[in-house]
Amino acid sequence: MKIVEQSVEFIDEPNWDLLLKHLETCGRICYKSEQKIMANSADEFIKKIISLGHESVLEHAGFTVKFICDRGISHQIVRHRIASYSQESTRYCNYINERFGGEICVIKPFFFDETSENYKIWYEACLKSEKNYFDLIKNGAKAEEARLVLPNSLKTDLVMTANMREWRHFLKLRTSQMAHPQIRQLSISLLNKLLERIKVLFADISM
Ligand SMILES: Cc1cc2nc3c(=O)[nH]c(=O)nc-3n(C[C@H](O)[C@H](O)[C@H](O)COP(=O)(O)OP(=O)(O)OC[C@H]3O[C@@H](n4cnc5c(N)ncnc54)[C@H](O)[C@@H]3O)c2cc1C
Repeated sequence: MKIVEQSVEFIDEPNWDLLLKHLETCGRICYKSEQKIMANSADEFIKKIISLGHESVLEHAGFTVKFICDRGISHQIVRHRIASYSQESTRYCNYINERFGGEICVIKPFFFDETSENYKIWYEACLKSEKNYFDLIKNGAKAEEARLVLPNSLKTDLVMTANMREWRHFLKLRTSQMAHPQIRQLSISLLNKLLERIKVLFADISM
């Protein structure tokens, strides 16, 4: 059984400057102020749009990320409806196969110290799930049947595409202290990447 940490990365990362200029071009149609578009005018314009709550303008651009997380967290992510998803399938992936190394992969729960009793209980439960899964497969069950006994900690790859308005909404909810600690850690990691790249669109989101 393989144990990995959760992560998030951009897929085909956009040119953030062009993305911002695109939003400005779309938004200025409303005010017929296209003549005000300058090399550095996008930041101020987008800041104003956000302060006015005129967020439909932000729907004209978006980006795609790949989350590597557990099945519990992926279930929370896909509750966000104004987005598109593609996810590793436990119907079509049979983890006994060579290409998966003949083992399942689980996400390490960062809130359990590796030396703690809780970590040990979690680890043994996952190992038992793996054994039960492989026993079912060896006994003739299909992957889509054997998956019944896989743990919530099972690693999944999940690709999500959304527009900027929806990403802002997602990050507000999922970086909040009310969010589950694992989705919060993942979302804070994404928010930090975005703040490095396109600060004006996310600067008002408090973690
Ligand atoms: C801290 C926390 C605890 C949660 N606990 C639970 C729980 O116990 N049980 C549970 O089932 N879920 C729970 N959820 C999930 C939550 O109810 C939402 O399903 C999830 O956060 C997606 O948010 P959303 O619906 O606002 O966003 P999205 O689906 O991303 O939609 C974005 C926005 O579009 C609008 N919108 C989308 N669809 C509609 C619609 N049909 N009608 C009107 N407006 C729409 C809304 O303004 C919405 O905020 C929890 C979420 C959080 C953050």
